[in-house]
Amino acid sequence: MRGCGPSRKGVRGWGLVGLIPNPYPLFAVALNCRACKSQGSYGVAATYLGGVALQRIGELFAAEQRRYVDAHPRSLQRTGHGIAGFYDGVPMHWMRDWSMPFPFVVESARGATLRDIDGNEYADFCLGDTGSMFGHSPQPVAEAIARQAGKGLTYMLPTEDAIAVGPLLHERFGLPHWQVATTATDANRFALRVARAVTGRPKILVFNGCYHGTVDETFVRLVDGRAVNRPGLLGQVTDLTQLARVVEFNDVDGLRRELAHGDVACVITEPVLTNSCMVLPEPGFLDQVRRLTRATGTLLLIDETHTISTGPGGYTRAHGLEPDLFVLGKPVAGGVPASVWGFTDEVARRLTAVRGQTPPGHSGMGTTLSANALSLAAMRATLEHVMTADAYRHMERLAATLAAGLQATIEARRLPWHVVRVGARVEFVCAPGPLRNGTQAEAAHAPALEQAVHLALLNRGCLIAPFHNMMLVCPATAEAQVATLQSAFEDVTGALVS
Ligand code: PMP
Repeated sequence: MRGCGPSRKGVRGWGLVGLIPNPYPLFAVALNCRACKSQGSYGVAATYLGGVALQRIGELFAAEQRRYVDAHPRSLQRTGHGIAGFYDGVPMHWMRDWSMPFPFVVESARGATLRDIDGNEYADFCLGDTGSMFGHSPQPVAEAIARQAGKGLTYMLPTEDAIAVGPLLHERFGLPHWQVATTATDANRFALRVARAVTGRPKILVFNGCYHGTVDETFVRLVDGRAVNRPGLLGQVTDLTQLARVVEFNDVDGLRRELAHGDVACVITEPVLTNSCMVLPEPGFLDQVRRLTRATGTLLLIDETHTISTGPGGYTRAHGLEPDLFVLGKPVAGGVPASVWGFTDEVARRLTAVRGQTPPGHSGMGTTLSANALSLAAMRATLEHVMTADAYRHMERLAATLAAGLQATIEARRLPWHVVRVGARVEFVCAPGPLRNGTQAEAAHAPALEQAVHLALLNRGCLIAPFHNMMLVCPATAEAQVATLQSAFEDVTGALVS
C-alpha cells in the first residue's frame, strides 16, 4: 500500500492511524500523513505492508512504544511535552521525525556509542545521518578543536590549518581548486551558481528522488513523467520547474532528451541515490552521464556527501569518475559544520574570465562563518588522521558483514525485502530489489513498517537513521555492535512474521 510520498525530512509518513492510542500527541508517530493530510487507505483496504500484516505491525509498534516510555522516564519529563522556548517543542523540527514517541535526551556520545540521560546505551548506526560518519568525537578532531578553542574561532583570515588543507583536498579528491563552506547545502548552492555563471545557462538537471540539501531548484520531482514542485515546501513562491529539469536515475534516453535542449548548466547527482531507498547506478550509467554532459557542454557536479562512505576519495576516486564540480559536506570536519566544493582547472579558468567581466558586488557565494578557523582545524585533523585507508578497511569489512547478516535474516524470514550497500553505508529496503530509479524507490518505502522496526531496534540498543533504513559503520564500530544489530534485526523480523 502506498498512501503518498515517502517519509522524509520534515515530512512524517504514514503512522498507524487508528490502531494505536498515542499518549504524546506532541511527538505523535501515530499520525495521519503530514504530506497529504489524509488518512488514505491505511488500515482499511490494505492488510499487508512490505509483506507484513498491518495488524502485526500495529501490535509490535504499540508494544515497542510502551517499552520505550518505560525505559525513558527522565527524557519523558524533559521532552515528552515539548522543550520550552522552541517552536513546536524542538530546536530543529527533524528531531520530531524519529520513530520514538518523544526524543530521548543525549547525555554523551563517543566512537560508535551513544548514551542518554536515562542511562540507556546505544550502538549508533545513524551517526548523525553521516555527520559523524567517522565516529563521535574522534580523538584527533577533539584535540584539534581543543587546541583551536583558545586561539580564536573565526576571523575571516587563513590559518596554518588552511594552508595544510588545500593540498590535502587536491591530493585526495584530484581536483585542483577548492572553497570551504559551512554545509553541503551551501556548497551545492555555490557550485551551482558557478556552473550557471560559466555556462551562461539557466537550468540545472536533477534525478528524480534526489536530495542535495535545501537547494531550492533541486526540489522537483517527476509525477507521471512530468516535472512538478515537490510537495511539502513551505513558502515556495517560484515554480521550480522553470529552473530545473528532472529525469529518472538510470534513464540514459531521458537524460539525452533533456540535455538536448541546450539550456542545462549542470547535472547535479550523487553517484548512488542515497536519499530515497538506495538506488545503485546500472553498469555504464555514470559513463553515459559523463559522455552526454560533455557532448552538450553541460557541467557535471558529483555530490559525495553520503557516498564518501565508499572510500577515502569517495565513489569518485573508487570508480574513476571525472566531475567538473565536486561537493562534500557533513563528516568532512568530523562533525564540526563544514563542507568543501572543488572544481577543475577548466572551470577555474572560465570562472576567472566571468569574474573579470562582472561588476563589483556580492558574489552570492559564501557565508560569514565559512572557512572559519575552528572548522579548518577539525577538517585538517579529519583528513590527516581520521579518514584513513585503515579506517575505511575496517568500515568496509564490518559493513559487508552487517549487510550479509541482514540479507540472510531476510531470506530466512521469507520477507520480500533486500539489502543494498555502498561501502560503509548499508540499507535494508522493505521491498524487492534492486531498485532502478526514484519512482521505484519512493514506492518501496513502507513508513509505518519502518517506524515500527526502527523503534524495536532502538529498544534493543541499536539506533539507525530515522529517514530511511540506513546504517553506517564507523571506524570505532565494534564487531560486537554489529552482532547486536544483527540479532536485534532477527528478533524484530521474527516478531513481524510470527
Ligand atoms: N547532499 C546530500 C547527498 C545529502 O544527503 C545531504 C543531506 N542529507 C546534503 C547534500 C545536505 O547536507 P546539509 O543538510 O548538511 O546541508
